[in-house]
Amino acid sequence: MAKREHRIILGLVCTICKNRNYVTTRNKINTEEKLLLKKFCKHCRKVTDHKENEKLK
Ligand SMILES: [Zn+2]
Repeated sequence: MAKREHRIILGLVCTICKNRNYVTTRNKINTEEKLLLKKFCKHCRKVTDHKENEKLK
């Protein structure tokens, strides 16, 4: 199986305003839990929690 099939593309959504601010990838073999990252949200104009939601691919 090709290595890149283990990487899934997902969106990171601000938990405050629900805007999708980032797109990232995750290796589902190495990282089984959902991501929760502190990132700058340009809509809230501050650092907020961003969680993964949709699988883009
Ligand atoms: Zn926000």
